[in-house]
Amino acid sequence: MKTQSVRTVHGKLKTAYASSERFTHPHGKPLDVLIQTILSQNTTDHNSFRAYRKLRKEMPRWSLVAEAEPEAIADCIREGGLAEIKSLRIKGVLNLIKEKEGRISLARLEQMTDSNALHFLLSLPGVGVKTACCVLLFGLGRPVFPVDTHIFRISRRLGWLDEDVKIEDAGGFMQKHIPDACVLSLHLYLIEHGRRTCKARNPQCTDCPIKGHCRAHREKRI
Ligand code: SF4
Repeated sequence: MKTQSVRTVHGKLKTAYASSERFTHPHGKPLDVLIQTILSQNTTDHNSFRAYRKLRKEMPRWSLVAEAEPEAIADCIREGGLAEIKSLRIKGVLNLIKEKEGRISLARLEQMTDSNALHFLLSLPGVGVKTACCVLLFGLGRPVFPVDTHIFRISRRLGWLDEDVKIEDAGGFMQKHIPDACVLSLHLYLIEHGRRTCKARNPQCTDCPIKGHCRAHREKRI
């Protein structure tokens, strides 16, 4: 993986997708981003944002969610799917933050280094590497690169990642080669590319704007 190749691919994806109106991503304070990201697991952006909006409307303070019965939380977030599991996860995370921080807030993350903030987030139940990186990128504006299944698949096909790199280690490796100014947009463009073109099955290689940079295509493995 070379920085120049990343810049070129970024430019081509920008040309292809920057005018898309589909770009949505978690936003707000770190805790808001954390809950949005938990809600986004195994569902579409559209459904998870609807679930998040309803939760905030019904329970406008995180303390209300922390004290609510799991069934009441699940009723608010049902549109996001896996409501029973996610309600328990959200309640558990909020209460553990309260226990650790003395209040339901992740504001202290702003004073932490990236690695300390990641360490803290990974200590919360049900928070994995991708979710923690999303909080740093979208909630704190840090140039930390979250890798989801789309990005992981595309990066392996492009030859940016070797086959033996695990998804949880991919972001840390890739980040070294991605200019800080491109981290957020490259993350969004690659997800869009995975949804529209470089799908898991039947990738649309003929129409792909970055096929000239793709090792799997060059080696006719796909
Ligand atoms: S050429 Fe095909 S496999 Fe390679 S990035 Fe494009 S769509 Fe994906």
